Amino acid sequence: MIFYRFYQGSVVDMRSFVSERAKETPISGIRVIFEKAQRVSDVIRLEVGEPDFDTPEHIRAAAVRALNKGETHYTSSAGVLELREEISRKFRVDNSLEYDAKTQIVVSAGAVNSLNLALMTIIDPGDEVLVPDPGWANYEVLIGLAQGVPVRYPLRERNSFKSDPEELRGKISPKAKAIIVCTPSNPTGSVLDIRHLQEIASIAEEYDLMVISDEVYEKIIYGNAVHQSIGALPGMANRVVTVNAFSKTYAMTGWRLGYAGGPSEVISQMIKLNTGLNTCASSISQIAGIEALRGPQDSVRQMREEYLRRRDFLLERLRQIPGFTCVVPEGAFYAFPNIQKFGLSSFDFAMALLDRAKVSTVPGSAFGPLGEGYVRFSYANSMERIGKAMDRIQEAIRSGLKVNKA
Ligand code: PLP
Repeated sequence: MIFYRFYQGSVVDMRSFVSERAKETPISGIRVIFEKAQRVSDVIRLEVGEPDFDTPEHIRAAAVRALNKGETHYTSSAGVLELREEISRKFRVDNSLEYDAKTQIVVSAGAVNSLNLALMTIIDPGDEVLVPDPGWANYEVLIGLAQGVPVRYPLRERNSFKSDPEELRGKISPKAKAIIVCTPSNPTGSVLDIRHLQEIASIAEEYDLMVISDEVYEKIIYGNAVHQSIGALPGMANRVVTVNAFSKTYAMTGWRLGYAGGPSEVISQMIKLNTGLNTCASSISQIAGIEALRGPQDSVRQMREEYLRRRDFLLERLRQIPGFTCVVPEGAFYAFPNIQKFGLSSFDFAMALLDRAKVSTVPGSAFGPLGEGYVRFSYANSMERIGKAMDRIQEAIRSGLKVNKA
């Protein structure tokens, strides 16, 4: 890191220009591995958190048409109304959520932008926000930027990484203002069923908490698991902001298109903040988003079927390697096996896999203290690459990453 700059004969200490906020914001544990993996030749990237598929052709074509028609201007900070109407319809049909397109929906630059706006709207400095542990690391970054305080609630392997109401209650202080719920989960792939959602809803009512429900993986779900939106439970409409995006469902991560629905009092403030922070989501992406929601959904099903095949293949390969045990993920495209038998920290284990097997994974500790003892494998990669990665891991473990028998 360069801290001193020489400018017209004087030396400037750049540290004085960098805020405490920026310095205190942690570097993502995924980033650390990502950067190291960049320097390893022939590495197989199983740390990546995005679909490996291209955006479906009809959505790309809609974007090209939008470009050629000159849809290249600022849009409303709430988003193009036609898109909000489609999102409103989608919320009603898929999630049993009633959000008025004109007053209860904001379109954002990806889900992360909606989460940012929601936290900035709901949180005052010092307010506590309950976050899942293990959970997506960015929640804590965004809470910190809103000057809130993250408080982790445990998701334990013995509960299939689902919330325990008593443990959750034990984390709530008078300063608690909101809770983030993520289902299907990154990094565990767990899907909260109706019982868990009802428990969280009644805790939110009891302690007067707002709920921010991150549902970006809702369409990537397997077997008997069913995605349900906590905002659709009785009495919850006024205390839930539902966040979603096109990123994972339609393989559109680079398009930066997400959205949120919620009570109009909260959404109107989010729209106001969006004006200052981003102006609007990309106009071209928004037009493509209309096509994504309106057009054929076969590609969503096909991608899900392919993820399922890969999940089963990866789990089977993990089962064949002594030392790994893995809760069967019901959604998203991650497996989160327990690696405690190897006797290494999750960071050392992930680094050893990178050095010895040339496979990049994410140490569970990147997702919170309770992620220690696990690593995250993404199966958003081809069967061939997953197979090759598992061959290499099997070989590396056979010849050195010892299983701790103790
Ligand atoms: N929420 C979760 C749980 C995620 O895993 C991610 C991305 O990995 C996001 C939100 C961000 O989504 P987007 O790319 O739409 O901002």
